[in-house]
Amino acid sequence: MNNVSEIQRVFILGMDGAGNFIQNTPTPFIDAFLAKGAVTYNAQAQSPTISAECWGSVLHGVVPEKHALNNEIAAKTAYPSDSPYPSIFRLVREASPEAKLAAFSCWTPINSGIIEDNLGVHKESKPDAELVAAIEAYLEHNADVKLLFMQLDEPDGAGHTYGYGPDSPEYLNAITINDELFGRVITSIENQGLLDHSLVILLTDHGGGGSHAYSHGSDHPMDKNVFWGCVGPGVAAGTSLPELFIVDTAAVVLHALGLQQPASWDAKVPKGLFSKVNVI
Ligand SMILES: [Zn+2]
Repeated sequence: MNNVSEIQRVFILGMDGAGNFIQNTPTPFIDAFLAKGAVTYNAQAQSPTISAECWGSVLHGVVPEKHALNNEIAAKTAYPSDSPYPSIFRLVREASPEAKLAAFSCWTPINSGIIEDNLGVHKESKPDAELVAAIEAYLEHNADVKLLFMQLDEPDGAGHTYGYGPDSPEYLNAITINDELFGRVITSIENQGLLDHSLVILLTDHGGGGSHAYSHGSDHPMDKNVFWGCVGPGVAAGTSLPELFIVDTAAVVLHALGLQQPASWDAKVPKGLFSKVNVI
């Protein structure tokens, strides 16, 4: 179980606006899980450090200047299904017409405006805890899912209300609550017997509190630095990741599923992530 070719499915589990502040509050589930794989607390969010721009890059493999998403556009418009910058969902769908694909996003514009319509992706939008219950229910009947994306929203909500960073107890508590929800999803993946053949990526899209205590969007390290980690076949425990932008998530997903990425992408598989294969 130690080669990337063993990977049959990918889970992307995200929380919004947590930066690298999982280091400042108890996150026992995430810590224990990522000890089995690769992790960095200095991954870089894309600029500007805003949700649609950043999740857009995670899912489309290009920088925000190319996918051209922002929060307003994502909220109002469906992502063009003929864009030269397709999402990972579109690429997996084109390669696997029958594959089960799923997106569980608390922030609705991810499902409606960032991931293309008409791909047969199972999409649900609910508050964090309900979303996790929906994933648990989904996995009971769809253990053969090929790509599942999750975005929880509470850390960003708490940051906007109470302030971001290590001095905001409400914000830190929201991250700890999300950690427990991540733990439930990971347990569910494990209970379905999927862990040995899955790549599980954990990440956040941006931080906050850099140029403004109650917001984000700047290039300040509090906004830019984010945690990113993954566990799965081919990823050795204790792997360090010296240089990673969150856009690279898309390249990791395609590589794990054995698919070629479009030449137009900015995403790269981080050097040294997969220990047992030659990185293409
Ligand atoms: Zn925000």
